[in-house]
Amino acid sequence: MNVADTQKVLVADDDAINREVLGELLKPEYTVLLAKNGAQTLERAARHLPDLILLDVMMPDMDGYEVLRRLRADPQTAHIAVIFISGLDRPEDEANGLKMGASDYIVKPFNATVVMARVALHLQVVRQRRMLERLANVDGLTELANRRRFDELYEHEWQRARRGSQPLSLALLDIDAFKQYNDRYGHPAGDRALRAVSRLAAAGMRRPADLAARYGGEELVLLMPETGALEAQGVVAGICTAIAQLMIPHEASNVAPILTVSVGGATLEPGSREQSAELFEAADTHLYRAKQAGRNCSIWRESAGA
Ligand SMILES: [Mg+2]
Repeated sequence: MNVADTQKVLVADDDAINREVLGELLKPEYTVLLAKNGAQTLERAARHLPDLILLDVMMPDMDGYEVLRRLRADPQTAHIAVIFISGLDRPEDEANGLKMGASDYIVKPFNATVVMARVALHLQVVRQRRMLERLANVDGLTELANRRRFDELYEHEWQRARRGSQPLSLALLDIDAFKQYNDRYGHPAGDRALRAVSRLAAAGMRRPADLAARYGGEELVLLMPETGALEAQGVVAGICTAIAQLMIPHEASNVAPILTVSVGGATLEPGSREQSAELFEAADTHLYRAKQAGRNCSIWRESAGA
C-alpha cells in the first residue's frame, strides 16, 4: 500500500496515555491524528477528514455522544466512521452509541488485537463504500463521470455560479457519424474511439471544478464553472484540435476522412436569471446548429456582452 492509499485515523481521548497507546498501535498501518478534547476532535475532523475516528465517550469539555452528534450535523463530516471507546460498559451505553450512528463500541480497558481488528474491519467497510460510490458515479466504458454525477454537479455548480455572480460554461460534444463508424469498423473500434475522445476531453479540463462527463451514447458534456464564453471556446477548440490530431480514419464519414466532433456551447453570464435547464437546452440547441452547419465545428451561443 503506498502513502496515498494510507487511511487516516483520528484518535480522540482526553487521557494522554490512552492517546499514546492507541496512536502507537495504529501508526505502523495508518496515518494517525490525535485530539485531546471534543473541540479539537471536531476541528481536526473537519480539517483532515479522517476515514475513522476512535472516540472516547468521556471527555471533560464535550462528551463523545455530543461530538458524534455535531459530526453528523455537518455534511462534510457526517459520513466519517466513528468507533466509541468507553469505560462505560453497561449494555444501554453501548446500545445508545450504536443507535446514534457509531460503527462500533469498544469497552475499556481495551485489548490491542481487538482494537486493531475492529479498526481494520471498519476501514475496509469505508473503502468498499467509496468504491461503490465511485462505481455509481463513473461511466464504465469511458471512465468519465456518468450522467448521474453530471446532473448532481451541474445543479450544484449552477447554484454556486448564481450565488457568486460567476459565469458558468457548458458544452455538448458529439462524435460525428458515429453510427457509420461503428457500422464500418465494428463496435470494439467504436468503443476505442469513444474512449480516446473522452480522454482528450478530460485532459482538456483546466480547473479542479471542471468536469467532462459522458452524457449518453457518443455525447459528452463539459462543465466549466467560473469560465467565461471566450475562455470556454478556447478550451473546446483545444480539445477539437487534439481529437483531429489523433487522425482516426473514418472512411464512412461524409464530413471528413477522419473522426470529427461537433460542439454546441452556452455560457451563463454573471447576473443572468437563466435556469439550469435553460442553459443546458441552449447548449443542446447550438449542438444541433453545429450539426446543421455541416458538423466538425463548434457553435457557441452569443453572449450578452459580445
Ligand atoms: Mg476520557
